[in-house]
Amino acid sequence: MRRQLFPLLIFLALLAACAEPEPTGTAITNVTVIDAVNGVRENQTVVFNGDEIVAIESSDLELSVAEVVDGSGKFLIPGLWDFHVHLTYDDRFTDSMPALFLSYGITSVRDTGGLMHKVLPVVEKMRAPDAVAPRVFFAGPLLDGNFVVYDGESRPEIGVRNATPDDARQMIRDLQAQGVDFIKIYEMVSPAVFDAMVKTALELDLPIASHVPLSLRASMAGPSVDSIEHLRNIEMDCASNAPELHETRLELLKNPDGLAGADLRSSLHSLQRLPAIANYDEARCDRTIEALMSTTQVPTLRLGALNIAPPFKRDDWQDALARIREDVREEWTETAAAMADNPIEEFTQFGEWALFLVERMHARGVPIGAGTDTPIFLAVPGYSLHSELEYLVRAGLSPLEAIRSATIRPAEFFSLADQMGTVDVGKKADLVLLDANPLENIANTKRIAAVVSKGRVFTSNELSELVSATLTAERRLQ
Ligand SMILES: [Zn+2]
Repeated sequence: MRRQLFPLLIFLALLAACAEPEPTGTAITNVTVIDAVNGVRENQTVVFNGDEIVAIESSDLELSVAEVVDGSGKFLIPGLWDFHVHLTYDDRFTDSMPALFLSYGITSVRDTGGLMHKVLPVVEKMRAPDAVAPRVFFAGPLLDGNFVVYDGESRPEIGVRNATPDDARQMIRDLQAQGVDFIKIYEMVSPAVFDAMVKTALELDLPIASHVPLSLRASMAGPSVDSIEHLRNIEMDCASNAPELHETRLELLKNPDGLAGADLRSSLHSLQRLPAIANYDEARCDRTIEALMSTTQVPTLRLGALNIAPPFKRDDWQDALARIREDVREEWTETAAAMADNPIEEFTQFGEWALFLVERMHARGVPIGAGTDTPIFLAVPGYSLHSELEYLVRAGLSPLEAIRSATIRPAEFFSLADQMGTVDVGKKADLVLLDANPLENIANTKRIAAVVSKGRVFTSNELSELVSATLTAERRLQ
């Protein structure tokens, strides 16, 4: 029935064309529109022209446009964000990431840490006028303290040292001059350096993403920053003995044994993380959560709770692996086998805690953002965001709230909620057309028929071909 309308529409459009200028724009017709602010709108036609949504009308209205995409029986959601990625953490992924993200409906990413000389060229390429790539927002390096965790020794070099408040102020000014969209504060900063970073970012109008520094408690650091990543170190503020744990950390952070940054941090995590969880105190944790009411939590559950629903136990894991480089695929297959044979009990305990904490935070109204830390630890770019959405639903968010965490919430972090994050007239043309209802099952966000990125329509097949093409190009370079 609907299909018969299209020749008529095109005929009408042609008729109109005789008298009027050429019709422009693209219409997705007769579709169910779903977003976290407007809820569900059935039988809609959404029209975009270039990179802007220009009309949303009942499907009964006739429109004159250049291109029609039949949305019958389909569901249209805003383009998704992965709110925590590392484009330059592993060079083997950098070139293939943009196509992979788009193929999974991710039209915006927030890069939460990479050295400027590596990140800037990638950002420039992704932002080129004709680039087929998600929108990208980047922080530059992890701003660490006197000791640096990601110093290029035992871990990739994505962090930088800020020994004093003056260093920190200068560092952030330099980063801003180079165009960063926000800053990322890391775990080893002192309270004075943290304070200088927060004030400087505020002066320069830069949003702040942060781990809770080990020298502080979550309830102290949380209110000063816009997002906290991985729930990091929050458990230590939820323990009945939180003040003592904090005192001990301050002593150990003087680093009497002269450990490398990564080892110093690991030693503190091993010493305090699980004991803190064992000492969970509900009233104290409620006060911590209260202090975080305006700080978006990016729990990266697919990482922190990986043991609870491991990627390698999913039906579509092999399909996701087939989209990445063969050498990485082999490496990850080995890692996965080792993990399946020998799950680490501590990791499972932390995962259960993380799910529990997100549930409590969400129930109290703490904003939640969906991020993955891809490509770190078995996170296929794009694919892993959908795992994160499933985890968020497992933690008590409704499917619509999970969609919120990957759409309007990230936009709010960058004060872009007037431009992105919902399907509304005047907003950017980033959309995902789904074959099945994501509100019935959040896993349906993977049933992608087409993706609209910056106003360009890509069918699911076209995107798969793009992913294959990047793999072939890489193989030739190897
Ligand atoms: Zn990260």
